[in-house]
Amino acid sequence: MKITFYGAAGGVTGSKHLVEIGKNRVLLDCGSFQGRRQITRELNSELPFDPSTITAVVLTHGHLDHCGLLPLLVKNGYKGNIFSTEATRDISQWILMDSAHIQLADQEYMLRHKIKGHELAEPLYTAEDVAATMSRFANVPYVDKNNDWFAINNNLKIKLYNAGHILGSAAVVLAGYENGQEIKLAYSGDLGRKGTPLIDDPDYIQDEISLLLMESTYGDRTHEPIDKAVEILKNVIKSTLANKGKIIVPSFALGRTQELVYLLHQISDRGGLGNMPIYVDSPLASEITEVFRKHREIYDRETWIDFEQFGEVPMSFKNLHFVSSVDESKSLNTLPGPFMIISSSGMCEAGRIVHHLINNISNAKNTILITGFQAQHTAGRRLVEGVKKIKLFGKEYGIKAQVVVLNEFSAHADEPALIDYASHIKGLKEIFLVHGEPTQASALSLALNKTLPGVKIAIPQMHETVEIN
Ligand SMILES: [Zn+2]
Repeated sequence: MKITFYGAAGGVTGSKHLVEIGKNRVLLDCGSFQGRRQITRELNSELPFDPSTITAVVLTHGHLDHCGLLPLLVKNGYKGNIFSTEATRDISQWILMDSAHIQLADQEYMLRHKIKGHELAEPLYTAEDVAATMSRFANVPYVDKNNDWFAINNNLKIKLYNAGHILGSAAVVLAGYENGQEIKLAYSGDLGRKGTPLIDDPDYIQDEISLLLMESTYGDRTHEPIDKAVEILKNVIKSTLANKGKIIVPSFALGRTQELVYLLHQISDRGGLGNMPIYVDSPLASEITEVFRKHREIYDRETWIDFEQFGEVPMSFKNLHFVSSVDESKSLNTLPGPFMIISSSGMCEAGRIVHHLINNISNAKNTILITGFQAQHTAGRRLVEGVKKIKLFGKEYGIKAQVVVLNEFSAHADEPALIDYASHIKGLKEIFLVHGEPTQASALSLALNKTLPGVKIAIPQMHETVEIN
């Protein structure tokens, strides 16, 4: 068996791992790189393998850094299916369509404003390419009590375990045959945390597996309990109500937005929001919220019971407004505070959030609330690092707004949880740490060496191929 790491190796975006077992060439995820426009543009515009040679694609979840280049794969000759849970398919449809629209809108904006580099903004794919991609999805349910395999072909089968990261997210166990022998490996995708409000906890892998590809995003960190973040959130709301400021929240339209809305609903029920309006300014958010409603079966049950016992619909309360049209979004520019805008993209690289940052970042009354992981070289990461000036859509802005970072909301497992996850796999001999920046991956590698001394730990480089016998 050969594995080549074409993305999320030495970094956290662009997940793409090509596994070759016998005649099968299986691509695990096909995500976009995110970060500095010029670099990611280059990385995203060409796939480093011939899509027509791929036998199957298994998609772990619908985040753009895992599914974002699927339309490019199909456009460039991939003929097979994309295997995922039904919820992941439903989510990916909106995420990819949104990505196509954002790419087009960004290009139009840059051309209109004659911004340098607009020639780099040519969309990688269109809405039509996304539609063609969606027809390739094949639903695979989470593995049930019978622990049955899902056969892709005579020599290839998979199991999907709930990864507890976002709705529909899965860890994959893949088995194939090479020289008459069965070879198995597991890929964690992104792993979630235990005890988050909306999504069920991750399930441990029950199969005996010698090889694991595991994420390491927060491999050097122990998360604070989520309650602490809720307290900080309440305090930011309180001070914003007092000074009539605005809270700008860059947020992934998928997952983090629903979690925030859920927590704001709770805060509102306890009188903590006053009359402060919350604008979810992402056309994607209401669509994704619908996907959440459709897939209640894979949710944390308590979430719904919390609200239903009071006759309420979760994620629907008087302060909450979903903004859809561009005009409505623009009208927020002149609206007096206090209010909160939750908008995407989550790393401040594209979409409506960039306009809201431009309008609000230079006012000391305002707060930029960072609630998600910010990859290197993104505008969001620079905000977290505490820079005083920032370039948005080619122009520089002074930062006067307060920047508050809430890592506690992370949808990723921390170091103890990652070690716990790997420790529960029987027969494990080797772990490849992916989806982590070098510092985090190295820290996790050291920690794993101590806890699992018999297991070999490696951190693959981008484009590295490893041969497993
Ligand atoms: Zn993810």
